[in-house]
Amino acid sequence: MKSLLITNGHLVTLDANNRFIENGSILIEGNHIIDVGHFSADKYKADRTIDARGSLVMPGLINAHHHLYSTFARGFTPPGPPATNFEETLRNLWWKLDKALDAEDVYYSALLAIMQAARAGCTTIIDHHASPSCVDGSLDQLERAFREVGLSGCLCYEVSDRNRPGEGIEENERYIRKCQDAEDDQMAALFGLHALFTLGTRTLDRCAEAGHALGAGFHVHAAEDEIDVQTTMAHYGRGIMDRFLDFGIAGSKTIFVHGVHFASRELDLLRSTNSMLVNNPESNMNNGLGVAPILDMLKHGVLVGVGTDGMSSHMISQARAMYLHQRTYHRDPTVAFGEACEILLRNNREICNRLFREPRGMLATGQLADIIIPDYVPFTPLSAETFYGHLLFGLSFTRVRTTISRGEVVVDEGRLPHLDEDRIRARCAERSSRIWSRIS
Ligand SMILES: [Zn+2]
Repeated sequence: MKSLLITNGHLVTLDANNRFIENGSILIEGNHIIDVGHFSADKYKADRTIDARGSLVMPGLINAHHHLYSTFARGFTPPGPPATNFEETLRNLWWKLDKALDAEDVYYSALLAIMQAARAGCTTIIDHHASPSCVDGSLDQLERAFREVGLSGCLCYEVSDRNRPGEGIEENERYIRKCQDAEDDQMAALFGLHALFTLGTRTLDRCAEAGHALGAGFHVHAAEDEIDVQTTMAHYGRGIMDRFLDFGIAGSKTIFVHGVHFASRELDLLRSTNSMLVNNPESNMNNGLGVAPILDMLKHGVLVGVGTDGMSSHMISQARAMYLHQRTYHRDPTVAFGEACEILLRNNREICNRLFREPRGMLATGQLADIIIPDYVPFTPLSAETFYGHLLFGLSFTRVRTTISRGEVVVDEGRLPHLDEDRIRARCAERSSRIWSRIS
């Protein structure tokens, strides 16, 4: 079995004892971590040794909600007057962009964003996908990109009634079965739904039946904007969580995304069903939607994670945005700093550990070998007490030198050695300009 040794690292283990190990080493065999601690380089004979040169070494980061298909929107402004509300943003930009994608666009937009994620030290991405002109097999195109870069992914197709009632149900079913039958654990699946305001009763019934028959969790936007709350109340006389519970859509494997406009009673329902909530602060700010009650969610005991919602593939900046967003809203300089870091580093891994079989997110024996070496030698004391300061004020602006995903070095001195990056960028430039002209 292939082995890899990391030496001379300042290890941030995030393990059960939250150990910080100066001048530490890590041995990896195959996909997994075998040993962590102080040991001399000659204790193990490894195929390759990486000298961390005193840099910090930590577990790979996790993005708990992404839209890889949004990659080619960078710099694009839809024709016509600017969107004045959330629904117009969806109609003018996102529902035009996703409809313009063909299978190769899906693959290339994912490939580029996954490469960027790897470079930013992210090793697992939970994605939410839409491409109405090529629904069938679209999740295989995403998987192809994940396997080429070497990261882990949890995929779903967002069912909605906006083009064809129930579009995407079969793609979710097919891909969930594929993951359940797969020999390795690189890819996982959820049953994707857009949001209640684009899903009718008949479609929700079909999705619930199909998802439950497969034992799958769901991945759905909830209470992102008031329109979701108002439409659900106007059409069905139900609150968001009540409506989901009418269909049995909640539970320990289900991710509700955003939750900006959840009422306190709905936080109780999230907790009592042991559901997960993933917030995306930069996206909420970008769309002008409000501030999610993150601190209340945590008080209610809800498992809260953080994602980028397609805004970027950089995770530390999301934790930074989350704490700044909360402090601004509460006008309180004492809140949300530690919480945002724990949401990123501990809660996101807890979310993954509900969806994948292989445990990740710690430098500890038996964990998946997802490890990053940022180019960061601390110049002030580093300990459990000071680490979050290093994370949000230092690491958020630091290049990642090495990313190891599933035991493979996928970023080596800032480059992805197994990919022809120039060719991929050139292909992406061609495809994105074609998509832009199609939408315009
Ligand atoms: Zn989203």
